[in-house]
Amino acid sequence: MNFGDSLPLLAALVTLLLGLAIGKAWERYKLRDGKWIDRRRARDSHHYVLGLNFLVSNQIDLAIEELSQAARVDSDALEIHLILGNVHRERGQVARAIQIHQALLQRSKLTRIEHAYILLCLGLDFKRGGFVDRALEAFNEVIRMDPANQYALLYLQKLHEEQHQWADAHRIRKQLVALSGPDTQPRNQAILAFLENELGTQALRHGDRGHAARHFQSAIEQDPDTTPAYLNLGDVRFLEGDMKGAEAAWDGLMARSPDRAYLAFDRLERLYVQQGQPQRFEERCQRLIAANPQGWRARLAMGRHLAARDRHAGAFEFLLAALEQNPHGLMLHQAIWNVLIKLDLNRALVQRYMESARSAVFFLDPHVCLKCHYRSTDLLWQCPHCHEWNSFVEERIAPAKEATVEM
Ligand SMILES: [Zn+2]
Repeated sequence: MNFGDSLPLLAALVTLLLGLAIGKAWERYKLRDGKWIDRRRARDSHHYVLGLNFLVSNQIDLAIEELSQAARVDSDALEIHLILGNVHRERGQVARAIQIHQALLQRSKLTRIEHAYILLCLGLDFKRGGFVDRALEAFNEVIRMDPANQYALLYLQKLHEEQHQWADAHRIRKQLVALSGPDTQPRNQAILAFLENELGTQALRHGDRGHAARHFQSAIEQDPDTTPAYLNLGDVRFLEGDMKGAEAAWDGLMARSPDRAYLAFDRLERLYVQQGQPQRFEERCQRLIAANPQGWRARLAMGRHLAARDRHAGAFEFLLAALEQNPHGLMLHQAIWNVLIKLDLNRALVQRYMESARSAVFFLDPHVCLKCHYRSTDLLWQCPHCHEWNSFVEERIAPAKEATVEM
């Protein structure tokens, strides 16, 4: 199982299957006790099966009703109470869920694994209710009892991430990596690298540039696709006055991820201007445009750069070429409006612009999470909706004309 990108699914699975898993453990326990006839009574009751069926078809109220009946048939049946509590939690009835799970903890003769699973469910209740400290406490207790419990580790990592406790999140992720198989290794490595990058950002906020740089470097070594680590490493070196080093870091990003090279444009421009060599920025933009004729961001950067130097006619050409690649980008239109004003609304140029802009619909800068389709106007490193790392891509919207044809 990939523990990086399956959290919403996991929540559902935990709700549904955890109880069953415990049921198995408990069944063995009861068998040892020689009371398995009692166990069968609850598991065989049609309330239990109906309850699970309603759960699967998302008819929660009916599921609660049937499972409650099944729980009355056999008040000992741990897994039914466990599921019942989980269903109440998913329904938003957190207090009820906590009450049910806490009552289970009071039972005598719980095995270690049963105890751990009840605590895990209780931790999820606390998390859902916003009781972060108590959730952390519960998950930690689960891991103390069952050190290989990947659910608890994963929820603990996510809680620490939400609290921006990056060192803790990183430590827990390492434990998870150690427990996971080789097939999930690359994905795990990528998440570790993003957490490492966060550690660097944190160090930088505390003014510790040396540590910050080491974290960023380490993030890049762990996974060369950790884009923000290149940007941040360059920033630290720039602050330290190491211009060559800063340029090398940003170059590294451009070489590794050309589609995200634009993130370094403003930085490189500032660097070259500060060094008195603005023409180097132009050369670089030209090279990027030649390497990626469909790219509009290098043309926008070039257009802005030229416009800032009063070379408006040249800027106009780059911006119009960019508009052909991305007719809906609002910032392109804005850049062009500015240039046209500077050119006293030159009639011929305005006409060319209107020709290009005829079918445009304005969008800011749309990005979309590949996992949950959450939309954002910025490129984000962690999705605020599904919490996935590095899942955003630029959304290219077809020209209005084409869209109409499709309809
Ligand atoms: Zn997402």
